[in-house]
Amino acid sequence: IKKTGILEFITSDLVMEDVGGLENLKRWLHKRNKSWLDSASKYGLDAPKGVLITGVPGCGKSLISKAISSMWHLPLLRFDISKIFSGIVGSSEENMREAIRTAEALAPAILWIDEIEKGFSGMSTGGDSGTSARVFGQFLTWMQEKKSAVFVIATANNIQALPPEMMRKGRFDEIFFVDLPTMRERAEILKVHMDKRLLHPDVIGTFQRDESTLEHLARMTEGFVGAEIEHLVISAMFEAYSEERSITLADFERAIENTVPLSVTQAEQIL
Ligand code: ATP
Repeated sequence: IKKTGILEFITSDLVMEDVGGLENLKRWLHKRNKSWLDSASKYGLDAPKGVLITGVPGCGKSLISKAISSMWHLPLLRFDISKIFSGIVGSSEENMREAIRTAEALAPAILWIDEIEKGFSGMSTGGDSGTSARVFGQFLTWMQEKKSAVFVIATANNIQALPPEMMRKGRFDEIFFVDLPTMRERAEILKVHMDKRLLHPDVIGTFQRDESTLEHLARMTEGFVGAEIEHLVISAMFEAYSEERSITLADFERAIENTVPLSVTQAEQIL
C-alpha cells in the first residue's frame, strides 16, 4: 500500500494558530478532543466518523486537515483514492480493503482524502465497468459501520461532483462549506502570514502591524482566498527585500493591486 502511494504519512508542523477563519469548523472541533475518538462508545455515542470539508480552492482545507492532526497528536495518512484503481480486475476492491485495514491498524489516526471528488470521478463517466461504483460502495459501507478510531477528513473543491450518497446521514459527522473569507477572516489570515514572516527587525522597520492596518488591508482584499493572501504578503516582502529596505504599507497595497483573485476571474468568465 505504501509502495503504491495509495497511503502516505504526512508530517507537518502546522498548528491551529496557522489557520485564519474557518470559525464554524474550529468551533465544532473545539468541543471534541482526541479521547472522543477512543471513548465515544463508552458514553453511548456513535464512533466518530469524520468530516467532509468543501469549498473554493486555496481557502485552507488542506491546512486545517494538517492542523487537526497536530491538535489531536494523531498520525495523518493521506489516502489517494485515484491510485486505488489499478486496472486489474478485482484488485481495486482489494486495494480499498487493504487501505482500510492499514488505517485501522494504525488507529487512532486521521485518514485524509484530499479532493475526494477526483477519486470517484470514474463513477460519473461510467467507463470502468462498475469498478468505481463497487469501490465507492465499499468505502461508504465502511464509513457507515466504522467502529475504529479512524477519523476521516475528506476535502473537496467541487461539491457538485460528489455522489449524493456521500452526503447522506450516517456517512460523515458533519459537512462544512468553506466560503470566501469575510473581512474579519481576511484580517486574521493576514495576521497569520505577517506574524509568521515579518520577524526580522530589518524587515519590519517602522511598519506597524496593528488592528487598523489589518482592517485597512482586509478591506482591500475582498474576494481573496487564504492562498492569495499568503501570496500577497510574500510579494510585498520580496518587493522590499529586492530593494534592500524595510517593508511599508505601500508594499502591501501594491501587491494587492497587482493581484486579480481567482474568484474575480471566475465571476468574469460567468458574466
Ligand atoms: P486546494 O483545494 O487548492 O488544495 P485548499 O483549500 O486545500 O486548496 P490550502 O492548500 O490549505 O487550500 O491553502 C494553500 C495555502 O494558502 C496554505 O498552505 C496556507 O499557507 C494559505 N491559506 C489558505 N487558507 C488559509 C487560511 N484560512 N488561513 C491561513 N492560511 C491560509
